Amino acid sequence: MTPSNSEKQAGGAGNTAESSGPAGVSHFIRELVLEDFKTNRFGGRVHTRFPPEPNGYLHIGHAKSICLNFGLAAEFGGKCNLRFDDTNPTKEEMEYVESIMTDVRWLGFDWEDRLFYASDYFDRLYEWAEQLIRKGKAYVCDLSADEVREYRGTLTEPGRESPYRNRSVEENLDLFRRMRDGEFPDGARTLRARIDMASPNLNLRDPVMYRILHAAHHRTGDKWCIYPMYDWAHGQSDSIEGITHSICTLEFEDHRPLYDWYIEQLGIYHPQQIEFDRLNLTHTVLSKRKLLSLVQNGVVSGWDDPRMPTLSGIRRRGFTPEAIRNFCARIGVSKTNGMVQLSLLEYFVREDLNRRAPRVMGVLRPLRLVIDNYPEGQVEEMEAVNNPEDPAMGTRKVPFSRVLYIEQEDFREDPPKHYYRLSPGREVRLRYGYLVTCTGVVKDEKTGQVIEVHATYDPATRGGDAPDGRRVKSTLHWVSAAHSIEAEVRLYDHLFTCENPAAESEGQDFMSLINPNSLEVLAGCRLEPGLAGAAPGSRYQFERLGYFCVDPDTGPGRLVLNRTLTLRDTLAKIEKGQRGQGAKQT
Ligand code: ATP
Ligand code: MG
Repeated sequence: MTPSNSEKQAGGAGNTAESSGPAGVSHFIRELVLEDFKTNRFGGRVHTRFPPEPNGYLHIGHAKSICLNFGLAAEFGGKCNLRFDDTNPTKEEMEYVESIMTDVRWLGFDWEDRLFYASDYFDRLYEWAEQLIRKGKAYVCDLSADEVREYRGTLTEPGRESPYRNRSVEENLDLFRRMRDGEFPDGARTLRARIDMASPNLNLRDPVMYRILHAAHHRTGDKWCIYPMYDWAHGQSDSIEGITHSICTLEFEDHRPLYDWYIEQLGIYHPQQIEFDRLNLTHTVLSKRKLLSLVQNGVVSGWDDPRMPTLSGIRRRGFTPEAIRNFCARIGVSKTNGMVQLSLLEYFVREDLNRRAPRVMGVLRPLRLVIDNYPEGQVEEMEAVNNPEDPAMGTRKVPFSRVLYIEQEDFREDPPKHYYRLSPGREVRLRYGYLVTCTGVVKDEKTGQVIEVHATYDPATRGGDAPDGRRVKSTLHWVSAAHSIEAEVRLYDHLFTCENPAAESEGQDFMSLINPNSLEVLAGCRLEPGLAGAAPGSRYQFERLGYFCVDPDTGPGRLVLNRTLTLRDTLAKIEKGQRGQGAKQT
Protein backbone atom coordinates (compact mmCIF):
# COMPACT_ATOMS: atom_id res chain seq x y z
CA MET A 1 0.00 0.00 0.00
CA THR A 2 1.04 3.59 -0.38
CA PRO A 3 1.08 5.54 2.82
CA SER A 4 -1.56 8.13 3.15
CA ASN A 5 -0.19 11.63 3.16
CA SER A 6 -3.33 13.55 3.78
CA GLU A 7 -5.69 12.50 6.48
CA LYS A 8 -4.81 13.02 10.09
CA GLN A 9 -5.99 10.50 12.59
CA ALA A 10 -7.83 11.82 15.55
CA GLY A 11 -6.03 10.88 18.70
CA GLY A 12 -3.43 8.89 16.82
CA ALA A 13 -5.49 5.71 16.70
CA GLY A 14 -3.36 2.69 17.28
CA ASN A 15 -0.59 4.50 19.05
CA THR A 16 -1.64 3.39 22.44
CA ALA A 17 1.16 4.41 24.74
CA GLU A 18 -0.15 7.73 25.88
CA SER A 19 2.26 7.88 28.78
CA SER A 20 5.28 8.44 26.58
CA GLY A 21 3.61 11.38 24.85
CA PRO A 22 2.75 14.64 26.53
CA ALA A 23 3.43 13.15 29.96
CA GLY A 24 7.12 12.94 29.15
CA VAL A 25 9.64 15.70 29.60
CA SER A 26 9.64 17.97 26.56
CA HIS A 27 12.78 17.97 24.45
CA PHE A 28 14.25 19.53 21.35
CA ILE A 29 12.79 16.97 18.93
CA ARG A 30 9.32 17.47 20.31
CA GLU A 31 9.81 21.24 19.99
CA LEU A 32 10.91 20.88 16.34
CA VAL A 33 7.95 18.66 15.51
CA LEU A 34 5.61 21.04 17.32
CA GLU A 35 6.99 23.95 15.29
CA ASP A 36 6.47 22.10 11.99
CA PHE A 37 3.01 21.10 13.15
CA LYS A 38 2.10 24.71 13.93
CA THR A 39 3.55 26.13 10.71
CA ASN A 40 1.86 23.44 8.65
CA ARG A 41 5.23 22.51 7.15
CA PHE A 42 4.14 19.00 6.18
CA GLY A 43 0.49 19.89 5.79
CA GLY A 44 0.07 19.39 9.52
CA ARG A 45 1.15 15.76 9.25
CA VAL A 46 3.42 13.98 11.71
CA HIS A 47 4.58 10.67 10.29
CA THR A 48 7.51 8.85 11.89
CA ARG A 49 8.90 5.34 11.65
CA PHE A 50 10.91 2.87 13.65
CA PRO A 51 13.42 1.24 11.26
CA PRO A 52 15.23 -1.73 12.84
CA GLU A 53 17.60 -3.93 10.93
CA PRO A 54 16.45 -7.51 11.56
CA ASN A 55 19.88 -8.75 12.60
CA GLY A 56 19.26 -9.23 16.32
CA TYR A 57 16.74 -8.78 19.10
CA LEU A 58 15.67 -5.33 20.24
CA HIS A 59 17.28 -3.91 23.36
CA ILE A 60 16.44 -1.14 25.80
CA GLY A 61 18.20 1.38 23.51
CA HIS A 62 15.72 0.54 20.78
CA ALA A 63 12.92 1.12 23.28
CA LYS A 64 14.07 4.74 23.51
CA SER A 65 13.70 5.10 19.74
CA ILE A 66 10.36 3.23 19.68
CA CYS A 67 8.87 5.38 22.46
CA LEU A 68 10.14 8.51 20.75
CA ASN A 69 8.80 7.70 17.30
CA PHE A 70 5.48 6.13 18.27
CA GLY A 71 5.06 8.59 21.13
CA LEU A 72 5.44 11.68 18.93
CA ALA A 73 3.03 10.25 16.36
CA ALA A 74 0.47 9.58 19.09
CA GLU A 75 0.87 12.99 20.62
CA PHE A 76 0.33 14.81 17.34
CA GLY A 77 -2.42 12.58 15.98
CA GLY A 78 -0.02 11.19 13.41
CA LYS A 79 1.28 7.80 12.36
CA CYS A 80 4.33 5.68 12.94
CA ASN A 81 5.46 2.91 10.59
CA LEU A 82 7.41 -0.18 11.41
CA ARG A 83 9.98 -0.70 8.69
CA PHE A 84 12.53 -3.45 8.55
CA ASP A 85 15.76 -2.16 7.07
CA ASP A 86 16.58 -5.47 5.47
CA THR A 87 19.27 -4.55 2.95
CA ASN A 88 21.86 -7.04 4.19
CA PRO A 89 20.79 -10.60 3.30
CA THR A 90 23.64 -12.34 5.10
CA LYS A 91 22.88 -11.29 8.68
CA GLU A 92 19.12 -11.17 8.68
CA GLU A 93 16.64 -13.79 9.71
CA MET A 94 12.90 -14.21 10.10
CA GLU A 95 13.40 -15.07 13.77
CA TYR A 96 14.56 -11.50 14.32
CA VAL A 97 11.67 -10.03 12.33
CA GLU A 98 9.18 -11.91 14.48
CA SER A 99 10.85 -11.09 17.77
CA ILE A 100 10.96 -7.39 16.84
CA MET A 101 7.23 -7.32 16.10
CA THR A 102 6.48 -9.10 19.39
CA ASP A 103 8.63 -6.65 21.33
CA VAL A 104 7.17 -3.48 19.76
CA ARG A 105 3.65 -4.72 20.49
CA TRP A 106 4.61 -5.68 24.02
CA LEU A 107 5.91 -2.16 24.63
CA GLY A 108 2.38 -1.03 23.81
CA PHE A 109 2.65 0.29 20.26
CA ASP A 110 0.80 -0.53 17.08
CA TRP A 111 1.89 0.12 13.50
CA GLU A 112 -1.60 -0.94 12.30
CA ASP A 113 -1.36 -1.76 8.59
CA ARG A 114 1.93 0.08 8.16
CA LEU A 115 4.42 -2.75 8.22
CA PHE A 116 7.10 -2.19 5.58
CA TYR A 117 10.38 -3.65 4.46
CA ALA A 118 13.18 -1.82 2.68
CA SER A 119 13.25 -4.89 0.43
CA ASP A 120 9.74 -3.89 -0.76
CA TYR A 121 11.52 -1.02 -2.47
CA PHE A 122 14.33 -2.92 -4.21
CA ASP A 123 12.72 -2.49 -7.66
CA ARG A 124 12.19 1.21 -7.17
CA LEU A 125 15.69 1.71 -5.80
CA TYR A 126 17.07 -0.11 -8.83
CA GLU A 127 15.15 2.18 -11.20
CA TRP A 128 16.42 5.21 -9.31
CA ALA A 129 19.98 3.94 -9.59
CA GLU A 130 19.62 3.75 -13.37
CA GLN A 131 18.20 7.27 -13.27
CA LEU A 132 21.36 8.52 -11.52
CA ILE A 133 23.53 6.68 -14.05
CA ARG A 134 21.66 8.40 -16.89
CA LYS A 135 22.25 11.77 -15.23
CA GLY A 136 25.98 10.99 -15.03
CA LYS A 137 25.70 10.87 -11.24
CA ALA A 138 26.60 7.22 -10.69
CA TYR A 139 29.13 4.83 -12.20
CA VAL A 140 30.20 1.23 -12.10
CA CYS A 141 33.59 0.90 -10.41
CA ASP A 142 35.91 -2.08 -10.69
CA LEU A 143 38.08 -1.24 -7.68
CA SER A 144 38.12 -3.86 -4.94
CA ALA A 145 36.77 -3.03 -1.50
CA ASP A 146 40.32 -2.51 -0.24
CA GLU A 147 41.16 -0.22 -3.14
CA VAL A 148 38.00 1.81 -2.64
CA ARG A 149 39.06 2.33 0.95
CA GLU A 150 42.57 3.29 -0.09
CA TYR A 151 41.33 5.79 -2.70
CA ARG A 152 38.94 7.37 -0.22
CA GLY A 153 41.65 9.34 1.55
CA THR A 154 41.43 10.46 5.16
CA LEU A 155 40.01 13.31 7.19
CA THR A 156 43.14 15.32 6.42
CA GLU A 157 43.81 14.16 2.87
CA PRO A 158 41.45 14.30 -0.09
CA GLY A 159 40.57 11.10 -1.87
CA ARG A 160 41.64 10.08 -5.37
CA GLU A 161 39.23 9.58 -8.21
CA SER A 162 38.59 6.03 -9.32
CA PRO A 163 40.01 5.23 -12.78
CA TYR A 164 36.49 4.05 -13.68
CA ARG A 165 34.82 7.31 -12.71
CA ASN A 166 34.49 8.64 -16.23
CA ARG A 167 32.87 5.69 -17.95
CA SER A 168 30.14 6.60 -20.42
CA VAL A 169 26.48 6.41 -19.45
CA GLU A 170 26.02 3.54 -21.92
CA GLU A 171 28.88 1.51 -20.48
CA ASN A 172 27.68 2.15 -16.93
CA LEU A 173 24.12 1.10 -17.75
CA ASP A 174 25.35 -2.02 -19.52
CA LEU A 175 27.66 -3.03 -16.66
CA PHE A 176 25.09 -2.26 -13.97
CA ARG A 177 22.47 -4.42 -15.72
CA ARG A 178 24.99 -7.22 -16.07
CA MET A 179 25.78 -6.88 -12.35
CA ARG A 180 22.07 -7.29 -11.69
CA ASP A 181 21.86 -10.27 -14.08
CA GLY A 182 24.52 -12.16 -12.17
CA GLU A 183 27.41 -12.02 -14.64
CA PHE A 184 30.04 -11.04 -12.06
CA PRO A 185 31.22 -12.64 -8.85
CA ASP A 186 30.79 -11.13 -5.39
CA GLY A 187 32.85 -8.02 -4.87
CA ALA A 188 33.96 -7.72 -8.51
CA ARG A 189 32.26 -4.38 -9.07
CA THR A 190 30.17 -1.78 -7.29
CA LEU A 191 27.88 1.02 -8.32
CA ARG A 192 29.06 4.29 -6.82
CA ALA A 193 27.57 7.75 -6.59
CA ARG A 194 29.62 10.35 -8.48
CA ILE A 195 29.84 13.18 -5.97
CA ASP A 196 33.14 14.66 -4.78
CA MET A 197 36.33 12.81 -3.89
CA ALA A 198 37.68 15.96 -2.21
CA SER A 199 34.70 16.57 0.03
CA PRO A 200 35.60 17.13 3.68
CA ASN A 201 32.72 14.75 4.46
CA LEU A 202 34.00 11.25 3.72
CA ASN A 203 30.46 10.02 3.16
CA LEU A 204 30.33 12.16 0.01
CA ARG A 205 33.50 10.69 -1.54
CA ASP A 206 31.71 8.61 -4.15
CA PRO A 207 29.97 6.24 -1.74
CA VAL A 208 29.04 2.76 -2.84
CA MET A 209 25.35 2.37 -3.70
CA TYR A 210 25.25 -1.29 -4.73
CA ARG A 211 27.41 -4.32 -4.12
CA ILE A 212 27.33 -7.75 -5.71
CA LEU A 213 26.27 -10.44 -3.27
CA HIS A 214 25.09 -13.82 -4.48
CA ALA A 215 23.05 -14.52 -1.39
CA ALA A 216 19.40 -15.40 -0.83
CA HIS A 217 17.33 -12.76 0.95
CA HIS A 218 14.76 -13.63 3.61
CA ARG A 219 12.02 -11.97 1.57
CA THR A 220 13.16 -11.58 -2.03
CA GLY A 221 14.80 -15.01 -2.23
CA ASP A 222 17.16 -15.33 -5.20
CA LYS A 223 15.67 -12.47 -7.18
CA TRP A 224 18.63 -10.20 -6.56
CA CYS A 225 22.38 -10.68 -6.53
CA ILE A 226 23.06 -6.98 -6.07
CA TYR A 227 21.98 -5.33 -2.85
CA PRO A 228 21.61 -1.63 -2.02
CA MET A 229 23.82 -0.19 0.68
CA TYR A 230 21.99 1.03 3.76
CA ASP A 231 22.76 4.67 2.89
CA TRP A 232 21.25 4.32 -0.56
CA ALA A 233 18.13 2.61 0.76
CA HIS A 234 17.40 4.48 3.96
CA GLY A 235 16.56 8.02 2.90
CA GLN A 236 14.58 6.90 -0.13
CA SER A 237 12.58 4.46 2.00
CA ASP A 238 11.62 7.37 4.26
CA SER A 239 10.72 9.41 1.19
CA ILE A 240 8.56 6.65 -0.32
CA GLU A 241 6.63 6.28 2.93
CA GLY A 242 6.03 10.02 3.23
CA ILE A 243 7.86 10.21 6.53
CA THR A 244 7.86 13.78 7.87
CA HIS A 245 10.42 13.45 10.66
CA SER A 246 13.10 10.84 10.12
CA ILE A 247 14.53 10.46 13.60
CA CYS A 248 17.82 8.62 13.99
CA THR A 249 20.84 8.44 16.25
CA LEU A 250 23.75 10.88 16.22
CA GLU A 251 26.15 8.74 14.20
CA PHE A 252 23.99 9.46 11.13
CA GLU A 253 24.46 13.21 11.35
CA ASP A 254 27.39 13.01 8.91
CA HIS A 255 25.31 10.91 6.56
CA ARG A 256 22.55 13.50 6.28
CA PRO A 257 24.30 15.45 3.47
CA LEU A 258 24.47 12.23 1.48
CA TYR A 259 20.78 11.44 2.02
CA ASP A 260 19.98 15.02 1.01
CA TRP A 261 22.11 14.68 -2.12
CA TYR A 262 20.37 11.47 -3.22
CA ILE A 263 16.93 12.96 -2.68
CA GLU A 264 17.78 16.16 -4.50
CA GLN A 265 19.27 14.30 -7.45
CA LEU A 266 16.16 12.14 -7.70
CA GLY A 267 13.85 15.11 -7.18
CA ILE A 268 11.63 13.26 -4.72
CA TYR A 269 9.82 14.15 -1.49
CA HIS A 270 12.22 15.24 1.24
CA PRO A 271 11.68 14.21 4.90
CA GLN A 272 13.39 16.10 7.74
CA GLN A 273 16.10 14.06 9.44
CA ILE A 274 16.71 14.76 13.15
CA GLU A 275 19.48 13.10 15.17
CA PHE A 276 19.46 12.28 18.89
CA ASP A 277 21.74 10.57 21.39
CA ARG A 278 21.91 6.80 21.71
CA LEU A 279 21.02 5.34 25.06
CA ASN A 280 23.97 3.84 26.90
CA LEU A 281 23.27 2.12 30.18
CA THR A 282 25.70 1.24 32.95
CA HIS A 283 26.70 -2.38 33.66
CA THR A 284 25.63 -3.67 30.26
CA VAL A 285 26.32 -3.46 26.53
CA LEU A 286 23.84 -2.22 23.93
CA SER A 287 25.36 -3.37 20.69
CA LYS A 288 23.68 -6.15 18.78
CA ARG A 289 27.05 -7.51 17.75
CA LYS A 290 28.17 -7.84 21.36
CA LEU A 291 24.83 -9.21 22.49
CA LEU A 292 24.97 -11.79 19.70
CA SER A 293 28.40 -12.90 20.84
CA LEU A 294 27.11 -13.34 24.42
CA VAL A 295 24.44 -15.64 22.99
CA GLN A 296 26.78 -17.49 20.64
CA ASN A 297 29.42 -18.04 23.31
CA GLY A 298 26.88 -19.43 25.75
CA VAL A 299 27.54 -16.70 28.33
CA VAL A 300 23.77 -16.35 28.57
CA SER A 301 21.06 -18.89 27.78
CA GLY A 302 19.72 -16.93 24.81
CA TRP A 303 18.55 -13.51 23.62
CA ASP A 304 15.83 -13.67 26.28
CA ASP A 305 18.11 -14.54 29.19
CA PRO A 306 16.85 -12.38 32.07
CA ARG A 307 20.31 -10.80 32.42
CA MET A 308 20.24 -9.46 28.88
CA PRO A 309 19.31 -5.81 28.19
CA THR A 310 17.10 -7.05 25.35
CA LEU A 311 13.38 -6.37 25.58
CA SER A 312 12.74 -10.12 25.58
CA GLY A 313 15.29 -10.54 28.38
CA ILE A 314 13.96 -7.82 30.64
CA ARG A 315 10.39 -8.96 29.91
CA ARG A 316 11.31 -12.44 31.12
CA ARG A 317 13.00 -10.87 34.11
CA GLY A 318 9.70 -9.18 34.99
CA PHE A 319 10.17 -5.57 33.85
CA THR A 320 6.91 -4.01 32.68
CA PRO A 321 6.27 -2.04 29.47
CA GLU A 322 4.84 0.79 31.57
CA ALA A 323 8.09 1.07 33.52
CA ILE A 324 10.15 1.13 30.33
CA ARG A 325 7.94 3.80 28.78
CA ASN A 326 8.17 5.92 31.93
CA PHE A 327 11.94 5.51 31.92
CA CYS A 328 12.18 6.56 28.26
CA ALA A 329 9.95 9.58 28.89
CA ARG A 330 12.13 10.54 31.82
CA ILE A 331 15.51 10.31 30.07
CA GLY A 332 14.28 12.33 27.09
CA VAL A 333 16.69 12.97 24.21
CA SER A 334 19.66 15.23 23.69
CA LYS A 335 22.47 15.96 21.28
CA THR A 336 25.30 14.46 23.36
CA ASN A 337 25.90 10.81 23.98
CA GLY A 338 26.09 9.99 27.67
CA MET A 339 25.56 7.18 30.08
CA VAL A 340 22.41 6.52 32.07
CA GLN A 341 22.46 4.60 35.35
CA LEU A 342 20.84 1.19 35.15
CA SER A 343 19.42 1.97 38.59
CA LEU A 344 17.24 4.67 37.05
CA LEU A 345 15.51 2.07 34.88
CA GLU A 346 15.23 -0.17 37.93
CA TYR A 347 13.64 2.66 39.88
CA PHE A 348 10.79 2.87 37.37
CA VAL A 349 10.35 -0.90 37.45
CA ARG A 350 10.08 -0.90 41.25
CA GLU A 351 7.72 2.04 41.21
CA ASP A 352 5.39 0.26 38.81
CA LEU A 353 5.58 -3.16 40.44
CA ASN A 354 5.12 -1.73 43.90
CA ARG A 355 1.73 -0.46 42.82
CA ARG A 356 0.66 -3.43 40.75
CA ALA A 357 2.27 -6.66 41.89
CA PRO A 358 0.36 -8.60 44.54
CA ARG A 359 2.36 -9.31 47.68
CA VAL A 360 2.92 -12.87 48.76
CA MET A 361 5.21 -14.72 51.12
CA GLY A 362 7.97 -16.96 49.94
CA VAL A 363 11.05 -18.34 51.67
CA LEU A 364 14.17 -18.58 49.55
CA ARG A 365 16.44 -20.49 51.96
CA PRO A 366 14.09 -22.36 54.28
CA LEU A 367 14.71 -23.11 57.95
CA ARG A 368 12.12 -25.15 59.92
CA LEU A 369 10.41 -23.32 62.75
CA VAL A 370 8.39 -25.54 65.09
CA ILE A 371 5.90 -23.85 67.41
CA ASP A 372 5.76 -26.31 70.26
CA ASN A 373 2.63 -24.99 71.99
CA TYR A 374 0.58 -24.76 68.77
CA PRO A 375 -1.94 -27.63 68.58
CA GLU A 376 -0.76 -30.46 66.37
CA GLY A 377 -2.96 -30.80 63.29
CA GLN A 378 -4.51 -27.34 63.64
CA VAL A 379 -4.56 -25.03 60.63
CA GLU A 380 -5.71 -21.43 60.69
CA GLU A 381 -6.41 -19.32 57.63
CA MET A 382 -4.75 -15.99 58.32
CA GLU A 383 -5.96 -12.88 56.52
CA ALA A 384 -3.22 -11.22 54.46
CA VAL A 385 -3.34 -7.92 52.54
CA ASN A 386 -2.61 -8.27 48.82
CA ASN A 387 -1.22 -4.80 48.34
CA PRO A 388 -1.24 -2.05 50.96
CA GLU A 389 -0.68 0.44 48.09
CA ASP A 390 -4.00 -0.56 46.55
CA PRO A 391 -6.85 -1.59 48.87
CA ALA A 392 -8.89 -2.63 45.81
CA MET A 393 -6.59 -5.62 45.44
CA GLY A 394 -8.21 -7.07 48.56
CA THR A 395 -7.02 -9.79 50.89
CA ARG A 396 -6.32 -13.51 50.78
CA LYS A 397 -6.08 -16.41 53.25
CA VAL A 398 -2.69 -17.88 54.13
CA PRO A 399 -2.56 -21.15 56.12
CA PHE A 400 -0.74 -21.12 59.48
CA SER A 401 0.23 -24.34 61.26
CA ARG A 402 2.60 -25.80 63.83
CA VAL A 403 5.58 -26.26 61.50
CA LEU A 404 6.61 -23.31 59.37
CA TYR A 405 9.55 -22.27 57.26
CA ILE A 406 11.34 -19.02 57.87
CA GLU A 407 14.38 -17.56 56.10
CA GLN A 408 17.73 -18.94 57.32
CA GLU A 409 19.11 -15.45 57.61
CA ASP A 410 16.22 -14.49 59.90
CA PHE A 411 17.68 -16.60 62.70
CA ARG A 412 21.00 -16.27 64.54
CA GLU A 413 21.99 -18.40 67.49
CA ASP A 414 24.49 -15.73 68.53
CA PRO A 415 22.99 -12.50 67.29
CA PRO A 416 25.43 -9.69 66.56
CA LYS A 417 24.68 -6.25 67.91
CA HIS A 418 21.69 -4.62 66.19
CA TYR A 419 20.38 -7.97 64.96
CA TYR A 420 16.72 -7.91 65.94
CA ARG A 421 15.37 -10.93 64.16
CA LEU A 422 14.86 -14.31 65.77
CA SER A 423 17.40 -15.61 68.30
CA PRO A 424 17.13 -17.61 71.53
CA GLY A 425 14.82 -15.84 74.01
CA ARG A 426 13.81 -13.14 71.48
CA GLU A 427 10.21 -12.45 70.49
CA VAL A 428 9.38 -11.47 66.88
CA ARG A 429 6.24 -11.06 64.80
CA LEU A 430 5.30 -13.53 62.08
CA ARG A 431 3.55 -11.33 59.52
CA TYR A 432 -0.24 -11.83 59.60
CA GLY A 433 0.44 -14.61 62.14
CA TYR A 434 1.40 -14.41 65.81
CA LEU A 435 4.17 -13.19 68.05
CA VAL A 436 6.56 -16.05 68.69
CA THR A 437 9.48 -16.46 71.10
CA CYS A 438 12.48 -18.64 70.34
CA THR A 439 13.00 -21.39 72.90
CA GLY A 440 15.78 -23.50 71.41
CA VAL A 441 17.39 -25.10 68.40
CA VAL A 442 18.10 -28.54 66.97
CA LYS A 443 21.50 -28.99 65.37
CA ASP A 444 22.91 -31.43 62.88
CA GLU A 445 25.03 -33.81 64.96
CA LYS A 446 27.86 -33.88 62.45
CA THR A 447 28.06 -30.33 61.20
CA GLY A 448 26.68 -28.45 64.18
CA GLN A 449 24.45 -26.48 61.84
CA VAL A 450 21.07 -25.32 63.11
CA ILE A 451 18.48 -27.37 61.25
CA GLU A 452 15.38 -26.54 63.25
CA VAL A 453 14.33 -23.69 65.50
CA HIS A 454 11.78 -24.11 68.29
CA ALA A 455 9.44 -21.45 69.59
CA THR A 456 6.26 -20.82 71.50
CA TYR A 457 3.48 -18.52 70.33
CA ASP A 458 1.21 -16.19 72.23
CA PRO A 459 -2.38 -17.14 71.25
CA ALA A 460 -3.55 -13.64 72.22
CA THR A 461 -1.56 -12.07 69.38
CA ARG A 462 -3.49 -13.47 66.38
CA GLY A 463 -2.88 -11.23 63.37
CA GLY A 464 0.44 -10.10 64.81
CA ASP A 465 -0.46 -7.55 67.49
CA ALA A 466 -0.20 -7.91 71.23
CA PRO A 467 -3.29 -6.74 73.19
CA ASP A 468 -1.03 -5.43 75.95
CA GLY A 469 0.73 -3.17 73.44
CA ARG A 470 4.15 -4.74 73.84
CA ARG A 471 6.46 -4.19 70.92
CA VAL A 472 8.75 -6.41 68.91
CA LYS A 473 11.53 -5.09 66.74
CA SER A 474 11.20 -7.44 63.82
CA THR A 475 8.57 -8.94 61.51
CA LEU A 476 9.40 -12.07 59.56
CA HIS A 477 7.80 -13.68 56.54
CA TRP A 478 7.03 -17.40 56.68
CA VAL A 479 5.11 -20.21 55.03
CA SER A 480 3.40 -23.27 56.48
CA ALA A 481 5.67 -26.25 55.81
CA ALA A 482 2.87 -28.68 54.98
CA HIS A 483 0.98 -26.25 52.76
CA SER A 484 3.79 -24.47 50.98
CA ILE A 485 4.81 -25.33 47.44
CA GLU A 486 8.30 -25.82 46.14
CA ALA A 487 9.92 -23.57 43.59
CA GLU A 488 13.23 -22.86 41.91
CA VAL A 489 14.21 -19.22 42.15
CA ARG A 490 16.87 -17.55 40.03
CA LEU A 491 18.64 -14.51 41.44
CA TYR A 492 20.47 -12.09 39.17
CA ASP A 493 23.22 -9.56 39.41
CA HIS A 494 24.71 -7.24 36.78
CA LEU A 495 26.07 -9.00 33.73
CA PHE A 496 29.13 -6.74 33.97
CA THR A 497 30.47 -5.49 37.26
CA CYS A 498 32.11 -2.41 35.74
CA GLU A 499 29.98 0.57 34.82
CA ASN A 500 31.00 0.97 31.20
CA PRO A 501 32.11 -2.36 29.73
CA ALA A 502 32.08 -0.99 26.16
CA ALA A 503 34.70 1.63 27.05
CA GLU A 504 36.69 -0.45 29.53
CA SER A 505 36.99 -3.37 27.15
CA GLU A 506 38.60 -1.31 24.40
CA GLY A 507 41.70 -3.12 23.29
CA GLN A 508 40.78 -6.25 25.23
CA ASP A 509 38.09 -8.88 25.06
CA PHE A 510 34.88 -7.54 26.62
CA MET A 511 34.08 -11.12 27.64
CA SER A 512 36.77 -10.85 30.29
CA LEU A 513 34.67 -8.24 32.09
CA ILE A 514 31.67 -10.50 32.57
CA ASN A 515 30.48 -10.94 36.14
CA PRO A 516 30.94 -14.66 36.92
CA ASN A 517 28.30 -14.38 39.68
CA SER A 518 25.49 -12.85 37.67
CA LEU A 519 23.22 -15.87 38.20
CA GLU A 520 22.44 -17.81 41.37
CA VAL A 521 19.95 -20.65 41.23
CA LEU A 522 18.14 -21.62 44.43
CA ALA A 523 16.32 -24.94 44.48
CA GLY A 524 13.87 -25.95 47.19
CA CYS A 525 12.44 -22.51 47.90
CA ARG A 526 9.02 -22.64 49.60
CA LEU A 527 6.12 -20.38 48.60
CA GLU A 528 2.64 -19.82 49.96
CA PRO A 529 0.16 -22.21 48.31
CA GLY A 530 -1.67 -19.50 46.35
CA LEU A 531 1.19 -19.49 43.87
CA ALA A 532 0.39 -22.98 42.64
CA GLY A 533 -0.43 -22.81 38.95
CA ALA A 534 0.85 -19.26 38.54
CA ALA A 535 1.21 -18.54 34.84
CA PRO A 536 4.54 -17.56 33.29
CA GLY A 537 4.85 -13.79 33.27
CA SER A 538 2.91 -13.35 36.54
CA ARG A 539 4.62 -10.83 38.80
CA TYR A 540 4.68 -10.69 42.60
CA GLN A 541 6.30 -8.85 45.40
CA PHE A 542 7.66 -11.33 47.93
CA GLU A 543 7.44 -9.68 51.33
CA ARG A 544 10.87 -8.32 52.28
CA LEU A 545 12.66 -10.00 49.37
CA GLY A 546 11.86 -8.12 46.19
CA TYR A 547 9.91 -8.51 42.98
CA PHE A 548 9.63 -11.86 41.23
CA CYS A 549 8.25 -13.06 37.93
CA VAL A 550 7.21 -16.57 36.91
CA ASP A 551 9.59 -17.91 34.26
CA PRO A 552 8.44 -19.72 31.10
CA ASP A 553 10.53 -22.73 32.21
CA THR A 554 7.60 -23.37 34.56
CA GLY A 555 5.57 -26.44 33.63
CA PRO A 556 3.63 -29.31 35.13
CA GLY A 557 5.14 -30.05 38.55
CA ARG A 558 7.75 -27.32 38.17
CA LEU A 559 7.58 -23.71 39.28
CA VAL A 560 10.44 -21.39 38.34
CA LEU A 561 10.67 -17.72 39.26
CA ASN A 562 13.13 -14.97 38.41
CA ARG A 563 13.91 -12.28 40.90
CA THR A 564 13.20 -9.12 38.94
CA LEU A 565 14.79 -6.80 41.50
CA THR A 566 15.35 -6.48 45.21
CA LEU A 567 13.40 -3.84 47.16
CA ARG A 568 15.38 -0.65 47.50
CA ASP A 569 16.89 2.48 45.97
CA THR A 570 15.15 5.77 46.11
CA LEU A 571 15.13 8.17 43.20
CA ALA A 572 17.05 10.76 45.19
CA LYS A 573 19.90 8.32 45.71
CA ILE A 574 20.02 7.40 42.03
CA GLU A 575 19.99 11.01 40.89
CA LYS A 576 22.82 11.76 43.24
CA GLY A 577 24.83 8.94 41.67
CA GLN A 578 23.97 10.15 38.19
CA ARG A 579 25.14 13.67 38.96
CA GLY A 580 28.25 12.39 40.63
CA GLN A 581 29.12 10.55 37.48
CA GLY A 582 28.49 13.66 35.42
CA ALA A 583 28.30 11.80 32.14
CA LYS A 584 24.94 12.85 30.86
CA GLN A 585 24.55 16.49 29.91
CA THR A 586 21.59 18.00 28.21
P1 ATP B 1 23.39 -1.82 17.00
O1 ATP B 1 24.51 -0.84 16.93
O2 ATP B 1 23.14 -2.38 18.36
O3 ATP B 1 23.45 -2.88 15.96
P2 ATP B 1 21.65 -0.29 15.38
O4 ATP B 1 21.54 1.16 15.56
O5 ATP B 1 22.45 -0.76 14.23
O6 ATP B 1 22.08 -0.96 16.72
P3 ATP B 1 19.08 -0.70 14.23
O7 ATP B 1 18.33 -1.95 14.07
O8 ATP B 1 19.62 -0.05 13.02
O9 ATP B 1 20.23 -0.96 15.29
O10 ATP B 1 18.23 0.34 15.07
C1 ATP B 1 16.90 0.68 14.79
C2 ATP B 1 16.63 2.04 15.34
O11 ATP B 1 16.88 2.06 16.74
C3 ATP B 1 17.52 3.07 14.72
O12 ATP B 1 16.74 4.20 14.38
C4 ATP B 1 18.53 3.38 15.77
O13 ATP B 1 18.94 4.69 15.67
C5 ATP B 1 17.76 3.10 17.06
N1 ATP B 1 18.67 2.67 18.12
C6 ATP B 1 19.50 1.61 18.14
N2 ATP B 1 20.23 1.57 19.27
C7 ATP B 1 19.85 2.63 20.00
C8 ATP B 1 20.23 3.14 21.28
N3 ATP B 1 21.15 2.56 22.02
N4 ATP B 1 19.60 4.26 21.72
C9 ATP B 1 18.66 4.85 20.98
N5 ATP B 1 18.26 4.43 19.78
C10 ATP B 1 18.84 3.33 19.28
MG1 MG C 1 22.04 -0.30 12.23
